[in-house]
Amino acid sequence: MQIVKNNGPITGEHIAEKLNLTRATLRPDLAILTMAGFLDARPRVGYFYTGKTGAQLLTENLKKIYVKDYQSIPVVVHKNVSVYDAICTMFLEDVGTLFVVDDDSLLVGVLSRKDLLRASIGKQDLNSLPVNIIMTRMPNITMCYKDDLLIDVAQNLIEKQIDAMPVVKEKGTGFEVIGRITKTNIAKAFVALANED
Ligand code: ADP
Repeated sequence: MQIVKNNGPITGEHIAEKLNLTRATLRPDLAILTMAGFLDARPRVGYFYTGKTGAQLLTENLKKIYVKDYQSIPVVVHKNVSVYDAICTMFLEDVGTLFVVDDDSLLVGVLSRKDLLRASIGKQDLNSLPVNIIMTRMPNITMCYKDDLLIDVAQNLIEKQIDAMPVVKEKGTGFEVIGRITKTNIAKAFVALANED
């Protein structure tokens, strides 16, 4: 990097010469630095330093990750199912958030673990209590679209202090649930970013 910074544009051969290495030995290192964005290469000109910091390159890469790249399959329940059945679904499907839909499969609510816990510590009969009584309902649902940037969704999850949001598509006057983004998806994207070439 220092050689290119001081002498760029400079060919791979000249860099290798300065390091007393062969061009072939140096090739993988130059490939990594170029792919990572620290160096750029132009045919017949050579390598030059892009001047971008690690933080700038990280930001550039974050702006290439979309919801659609990391979304999971949503788990939905009908608004008339009982709290008891919703608890069973949450366990069976191994998710932390359920989305609630109406007869037209349009999004009407969200159920978190604590919503279900709160309902369970009361004296109500969980088999006869429908989820639409306890859910967080429209228009208070935070949603996202498949073409949103994942970093913006992550920011929204933090601001709203929630664990998940539905990925939706407009359908008539409402929204159809087509996916789910959770803190786990964000963590996966974070790790993938660190493991990139
Ligand atoms: P938990 O309640 O288990 O800690 P959350 O932090 O996700 O889980 O939920 C906190 C509250 O916010 C709950 O009452 C839940 O119904 C509501 N909530 C969860 N996700 C959303 C969302 N995407 N939009 C609006 N409200 C939500």
